[in-house]
Amino acid sequence: MTFPRPDYEALERYLPNRTPVAVDLSDNTNLWGPHPAADRTLREIAENGITRYPSAYADRLRDAVAERFGVDASCVTTGCGSDDVLDSAFRAASAPGGTVATLNPTFSMISALASMNGLSTHAVDWDPWAGPPPPPEELVGTDPDIVYVCRPNNPTGTAAPRGWMDDLLARAERRGTLVLIDEAYADFADDDWLRTASERERVLVLRTLSKAYGLAGLRIGYAVGSPTVALEVDKSRGPYKVSAVADASAAAALTDSSGWTDNVIQESRMMRGVLVEALRQRGFEPAPSAANFVLVRVGSVPAALVDGELRARGVAVRPFDVPGLFNAIRITVAPWELLEQFLAAFDSVCEGLGVEPDGAKGPGGARP
Ligand SMILES: *Cc1c(COP(=O)(O)O)cnc(C)c1O
Repeated sequence: MTFPRPDYEALERYLPNRTPVAVDLSDNTNLWGPHPAADRTLREIAENGITRYPSAYADRLRDAVAERFGVDASCVTTGCGSDDVLDSAFRAASAPGGTVATLNPTFSMISALASMNGLSTHAVDWDPWAGPPPPPEELVGTDPDIVYVCRPNNPTGTAAPRGWMDDLLARAERRGTLVLIDEAYADFADDDWLRTASERERVLVLRTLSKAYGLAGLRIGYAVGSPTVALEVDKSRGPYKVSAVADASAAAALTDSSGWTDNVIQESRMMRGVLVEALRQRGFEPAPSAANFVLVRVGSVPAALVDGELRARGVAVRPFDVPGLFNAIRITVAPWELLEQFLAAFDSVCEGLGVEPDGAKGPGGARP
């Protein structure tokens, strides 16, 4: 073995554009603020609970998840963000040289985590404006070690239909393939798979407190599956990955009965509708979103250019130029004061760069 690892040569450190801007709608975090119960608990713990190690496998968070969703604690695993749970699940279900099958585009960390673990990615294109994804056999039929489905999907916002999911799960089960269902945005959707995950043999449903709960800075993720799947992921993850502060704060947020999260979710869903309507009035047709963000095509003007011009006006979004599929920007849903500023900047950028909305002629902009 040579050092550095030859298969790490193409790997780079993740460098998000975090230049501060007045209105940051780039990372789908909660613009309504952090969960107050978590915020309170975090201050209490910081005062008297940090000289000792936390529980090895985040017992408080595990018990809170079990209580909240009515599953046995043995079906729950946790991690330092759901990225950490994904990473551990990859290691638990595959060895270097293995494969992960996904839809394309999907969560950008997936190809990075695959590379870090010596896995290759088999990606099947899904145009979110064209209806449901290609048949599940295109993912499962290549005999991957792992199938990863993000539902609702990041960056498109679209949720694969339930019938498509049933078909995928049945095919994967027959082959013994582990299916990871990433529900980072399921809080904003109409349905989920978490509640039935523990009844299936090789399914793991992942959640995070980084989005609806407003706790991205604390790095808290969890997942539910069969006791065997949860145990194997715990083993590959190792102990002490969730800090005492994160463990207690997450448990407080998940078991809180004030209705704070439900209220934020309701507001987010409402503002999603408002943003979609405002874009439609301008002639744009966003991809149907079940998440707290919206993807909108920007004609033939490179999305990175639109992003740059928006940033110059104090507004951050995320550009996605996916070859052969779409050229678009992803906008995080936020309170109206922030969306209003986005829309003003977007109008000015569209005029300046000559962005043609969907429906107008021009490459990438025409609707089929
Ligand atoms: C934001 C996000 C996560 C959350 O990751 P954390 O590590 O928990 O912050 C997971 N999956 C997807 C698809 C995301 O967009």
